[in-house]
Amino acid sequence: MSFAEGILNGKSAIVTGGATGIGSYIVRRLGTLGASVGIVSRKEENLIAAVKAFKEQDGIDVVWRTGDVRDPDGIKKSFDEVVGEIGGLDILVCNAAGNFICPTEDLSWNGWRTVIEIDLNGTFNCCQAALEYLKASQDGGRIISISTTQADFGWPGAAHAGAAKSGIQNLMKTLAAEWGQYGIRANWISPGPIEGTEGVDRLIIQQGLGEEVKKNIPLGTFGEGDDIANAVVYLSSDTGKYVSGAGLAVDGATQWFRKR
Ligand code: NAP
Repeated sequence: MSFAEGILNGKSAIVTGGATGIGSYIVRRLGTLGASVGIVSRKEENLIAAVKAFKEQDGIDVVWRTGDVRDPDGIKKSFDEVVGEIGGLDILVCNAAGNFICPTEDLSWNGWRTVIEIDLNGTFNCCQAALEYLKASQDGGRIISISTTQADFGWPGAAHAGAAKSGIQNLMKTLAAEWGQYGIRANWISPGPIEGTEGVDRLIIQQGLGEEVKKNIPLGTFGEGDDIANAVVYLSSDTGKYVSGAGLAVDGATQWFRKR
């Protein structure tokens, strides 16, 4: 199943954290449907390996720069350079995030602050860095933040990530309201557990929660990276042009967190 060939021809996109996991599926989908894509994250070795794989496996040329979303000046510089190479910016996917499981009573200030800085402040920094380019986008710029279905509920063991992702969702609503005048749409996608990702491996499988989580997914399986990538394409292309300030859950109706 896919979208019409070339549906994103002429579009340019940046995906933060696009070298690994869900981000890499998003990059593949955007790139193979015609967009020029750049990726930004911290580890150069992962960026280089991913760009090689995108070329060899998918036949797409992806531009990369290192950058830490916590650093507003650094991320602006990385975005400026990427935009220079991909020829503008129509689609910003704020996918970079960090998380670890820790009961709140044991959570240090540094642990709390680090996740808030990467997830919430990082998303803010990326949106600010992209604004001038998104304003110039011909068909209206798109911001798509990757949240989580768990942000809508309490998240025992991940207070920092839950608070940050909830904050991101509210930020998208505010940007939709403030930047709609520039034609910019700001939305978020809430993935459920996506198989084969760092998130599921570390936060679910390694915690011994794999079977429990699966039992409580009404559709009975973990999601796939392409499920999220397809939702990004919908929101990035003409198909999603009247959607702004909205969240799209792509989670198989996951409810396990409510039952714990
Ligand atoms: P992942 O592979 O660990 O992806 C996270 C990416 O973010 C990495 O490429 C990482 O690269 C980058 N990153 C982390 N900190 C950064 C920073 N300070 N500056 C720049 N880049 C940074 O994890 P994933 O599981 O695919 O998650 C991707 C997104 O989906 C996240 O927003 C996550 O919250 C969300 N999500 C995932 C699931 C799931 O089932 N996996 C479920 C719900 C939501 P570097 O370390 O090289 O910087």
